[in-house]
Amino acid sequence: MRRSEVSDRFDGIGASGGIAIGPAVVYRPDVPEVRVREVADPAAEAARLERAVASVLERLGRLEALASGEAGAEVAEIFEAHRMFLDDPSFSGDALEMVRSEAICAEAAVDRVTDRLATEFEEIGDEYFAARAADVRDIGTQLVRELLGLGQLGFGHLTRPSVIAARDLTPSETMTIPPGMALAFVTEVGSPTSHTAILARSLGIPAVVGVGGAEFTDGVVLAVDGDSGSVWVEPDAQTVTALTRRKADLDALADEAQAHAGEPAVTRDGRLIEVVANIGSPADASRADRAGAEGVGLFRTEFLFIDRGAPPSEEEQYRAYREVFETFGTRPVVVRTLDVGGDKEVPGIDQGQELNPFLGVRGIRLTLAESDLFRTQLRALLRAAVGANLKLMFPMVATLEEIDRAREAVDAAAASLDAEGAERADDFEIGIMIEVPSAAVTADLLAPHVDFFSIGTNDLTQYTLAVDRTNPAVAPMADALHPAVLRLIGSVIDAAHAAGKWVGLCGELAGDPLAAPVLLGLGLDEWSMNPPSIGMVKARVRTLSGDECRSVAARCLGATSARQVREILEGL
Ligand code: PEP
Ligand code: MG
Repeated sequence: MRRSEVSDRFDGIGASGGIAIGPAVVYRPDVPEVRVREVADPAAEAARLERAVASVLERLGRLEALASGEAGAEVAEIFEAHRMFLDDPSFSGDALEMVRSEAICAEAAVDRVTDRLATEFEEIGDEYFAARAADVRDIGTQLVRELLGLGQLGFGHLTRPSVIAARDLTPSETMTIPPGMALAFVTEVGSPTSHTAILARSLGIPAVVGVGGAEFTDGVVLAVDGDSGSVWVEPDAQTVTALTRRKADLDALADEAQAHAGEPAVTRDGRLIEVVANIGSPADASRADRAGAEGVGLFRTEFLFIDRGAPPSEEEQYRAYREVFETFGTRPVVVRTLDVGGDKEVPGIDQGQELNPFLGVRGIRLTLAESDLFRTQLRALLRAAVGANLKLMFPMVATLEEIDRAREAVDAAAASLDAEGAERADDFEIGIMIEVPSAAVTADLLAPHVDFFSIGTNDLTQYTLAVDRTNPAVAPMADALHPAVLRLIGSVIDAAHAAGKWVGLCGELAGDPLAAPVLLGLGLDEWSMNPPSIGMVKARVRTLSGDECRSVAARCLGATSARQVREILEGL
């Protein structure tokens, strides 16, 4: 946290855009004290623990369903992961064993197992595992509270819309907030990739994270600017007026954009831009459809694999893919084959221990190594895509050899279906993600071998600037508007167009209205984003001219920093 010159303003990291002003509710969860108690009947105590585990599992299942309906697949996945942790033999299995063998009370066993597992994760000293440690502690607390009959932590009591201030918020606590009662979130810890940040963005609630050191009291008025990352305590009249005016402008713009989200995005000089959605599940597909998506530019299929102990069967995958294709009819659906590894773990697939998982067996490398897994997914997809507009896409491609091998896998899956006489799609495009610098730099050599590219700026930025996308310490450097990333985007688009291929962009950058002029100027064909951004980006595109934006893009490519690029774009 940086306390600003102005005495009542605190600066953190803007993690979810928007402005809110309202009374603070300071959340201080009480951590129950656990005493070790010997029990006379360990079997009965173990049964008590089993009942508590079942009840927390059931509640997590409900939260997952709620999140999937209200906040989308990314948030639902968090609860799914919690269920998996709780159900894991190394968690509840070990706690049960401890109750039986040491004849101690269930609360104490859970407390010990939680502490041991969380400490193991914490000692790895990595941002990702620190977040997993927080998950384990969250689940442990929920289980202990259940055993003690304390009821669950959270905000069920909230009756007036408030700015919620906390050290941090767990997903299960956040999901207890009654609809409409959270005006904004302000947390002491956290990064733009923390759970609070993901949840806030999915729910469209402004959030500032990393405001460490600020002490708020219940009832004080807080003004929160989720774009700049500032929080004002008891803001003066001038600040309130300025923020209220900006909020009214933003709300009016958002309403106007939403009203026209279903209409095409045509630039002032008549260029039609294809605006499509990033989705992670069939439920996301309907949400995207309602938000004005003209198709899907990225279906992250890993969602289907996270939801379980073992990978889904061909039949289960078929049903999920079919549902998405049916939602979009003949509109294009870019389906990305399984992209795990890096920060994405999937239960049931042994990813081994890697010192540098982001440089390890991820994306296409993993599916090429796990040929059964790949074949099952490809067969399910080809069957489900009959009559649909499938565009098949491979993630994390670094070399031409990977494209050749992936194509062979598609041919083999198709041949196996043909041999069985099964119906399958036979007319579909094949493309690759451009998110590894080697693929971006050799795009001219790869373009003849594919039908399209989709640029993944989240990873392309991380690999180009050597900034771990999950590490808050380098988060400010991870800016996809850096000229190095923009130059790669520009050269990829030029290389594809020279070969007669189209280019999409499905990293977070596509959904940022500020980036629209430079992306338009660089000649991007298809823009894929989280559904809530569709209306605003379309509205921005309609105000632009392709011709004018070409010179904006040239200026951005000549800038020496992301900040300079931002200044150019903000000055338009
Ligand atoms: C990307 O890297 O930009 C991308 C869209 O893929 P993911 O965020 O799923 O890694
Ligand atoms: Mg990626």
